[in-house]
Amino acid sequence: MSFTLHGLAVSSGIAIGQAHLISQATLEVSHLVITPRMVEKEVTRFESAVTQVRNEFQSMKIGMENSPTDIGAFIDLHLMILADPELSEVPKQIIRERRCNAEWAIVQQMEVLVAQFEKIDDIYLRERSYDVRQVVERVVRELVGRPGHAAVKVPKSTKGEALIVVAHDLSPSDVMAFKDQHFASFVTDVGGATSHTAILARGMGIPAVLGLHNARQLIRDKETLIVDGSRGVLIVNPDARVIEEYTLKKSQLEIERAKLKLLKTARATTLDRVKVDLLANIEEPSDVAAMLESGADGVGLFRTEFIFLGRGDMPSEEEQFEAYRKAVKGMQGRPITIRTFDLGNDKNLQPEDTLGERQRDNPALGLRSIRLSLADPKSFLAQLRAILRVSKLGKVKILIPMLSHAIQIDQTLALLEQAKSSLRGEKITFDESIEIGGMIEVPAAALAVGMFLRRLNFLSIGTNDLIQYTLAIDRTDEQVSNLYDPLHPAILMLLAHVISTAEKVHMPVSMCGEMAGDPNLTRLLLGMGLRQFSMYPAQIPAVKQRIKQSDISEVTPIVRRILRLEEPAKIQEQIERLNM
Ligand code: PEP
Ligand code: MG
Repeated sequence: MSFTLHGLAVSSGIAIGQAHLISQATLEVSHLVITPRMVEKEVTRFESAVTQVRNEFQSMKIGMENSPTDIGAFIDLHLMILADPELSEVPKQIIRERRCNAEWAIVQQMEVLVAQFEKIDDIYLRERSYDVRQVVERVVRELVGRPGHAAVKVPKSTKGEALIVVAHDLSPSDVMAFKDQHFASFVTDVGGATSHTAILARGMGIPAVLGLHNARQLIRDKETLIVDGSRGVLIVNPDARVIEEYTLKKSQLEIERAKLKLLKTARATTLDRVKVDLLANIEEPSDVAAMLESGADGVGLFRTEFIFLGRGDMPSEEEQFEAYRKAVKGMQGRPITIRTFDLGNDKNLQPEDTLGERQRDNPALGLRSIRLSLADPKSFLAQLRAILRVSKLGKVKILIPMLSHAIQIDQTLALLEQAKSSLRGEKITFDESIEIGGMIEVPAAALAVGMFLRRLNFLSIGTNDLIQYTLAIDRTDEQVSNLYDPLHPAILMLLAHVISTAEKVHMPVSMCGEMAGDPNLTRLLLGMGLRQFSMYPAQIPAVKQRIKQSDISEVTPIVRRILRLEEPAKIQEQIERLNM
């Protein structure tokens, strides 16, 4: 049966391959022995998880009333499985008899049922074991209290087959875990377009669709999938004609990409000879190779936290020095801007399932990023020392994320001084005139940019967070992703304000959020006065091409007009005009 699902187009391109379902904890749950007093409580916990999942299925059905009837039939089947006493009653007996936790009880029962199904000759019935697993998976997710977080298990060998990862959710550390696994694509049920998961997909240059709602539930392992990352479409079990059509589209896209690559050595200069710096965003030292390959002028954003995600503790100064040294050495003399840890929110050193409850309440507004660094000065000093130590090996700059208060800048500068004087005491050399810049990612920072200009050497605008905080839209939540709007007049005003204020005092300003890598926004940003763009290496050729076809003296008056508009339709109309 073929069907199509629609989600968020987060990373363009086409992938055709086999589904590889990332299973929730493939039900790797721990076995806990509980006290006799806890038994009935555990039974109740199990019952409420089952009820919750039943309610979820029922609301899914309501939401799918206009979808193909086959999808409704899937949900009916899962409701039936859930209602079967084999799954809804037997685990309760197991809890009572073996005094164990509910997760373990249902997984034990699942193994028994799956073994029975697998003995059946009839292929249709045998395949129902998948459905049993999917239903149990959902109950387990409910029980562990983290609806939907996948525990990524990378298959041992993909032997060159095109594998498409299908997961309910993937955290940035999950995606980092399969960065070298050569997956053709991934799709998830949840996640926003500028979540770090989406950003990583773009960085890896693989198509991805997020926010598909029920893909993980509806797709089986090894089913054939087509991912159209540009349109946010997933086709399950396409027929031969559709595969042929997409194979052709895929090769056309590859030809276009190859053509753009020819621009590698061309300079990013506008028609009226204004030189623009095109820099790369990287996450790991090994990404420097892709930066060189793209023809970038350097690295505008090295997101250092990604190297250490999920490892459990803070890396030592030596570990960091080694990682940064590798990156700086690979730069072949080009500049590299190393950002201090932007941890917290969706990027954590602790494995996902060990994060405390508190950390999940409003984490984007909590103790993250520079706030976290300043709360742990010992670790922050170790990072600053590691960066300073590599500064003598190349052209290194330091970038501080998520600043909002002058006191944070002052404290950071004081710690930097402390790091410098400790190195001097140890006779370790570093670049004495190393530049330090701040990210503009909080509306307060954009509005009061003067306090940054007086204290720092450069600015870098992080539009992903700036949009999240200005529009109050969680960038990781697909339910509000339709409201995540880079062209909102408030965003345009803030960007223009920051760029023009910095320009007046000749302070260099770059942009390293996702807006910088969108060729449809290149002329808008050029017209605001932006001359440094930092993006994923894969995005550089298309942005360079757009720059080469632009004339600043033509785009500037149109952009001035756009900045006076407030009506979204009018702004859109002018953007189209700008891109003609
Ligand atoms: C941003 O917020 O735009 C940014 C570049 O930082 P990150 O995406 O890592 O939060
Ligand atoms: Mg940010």
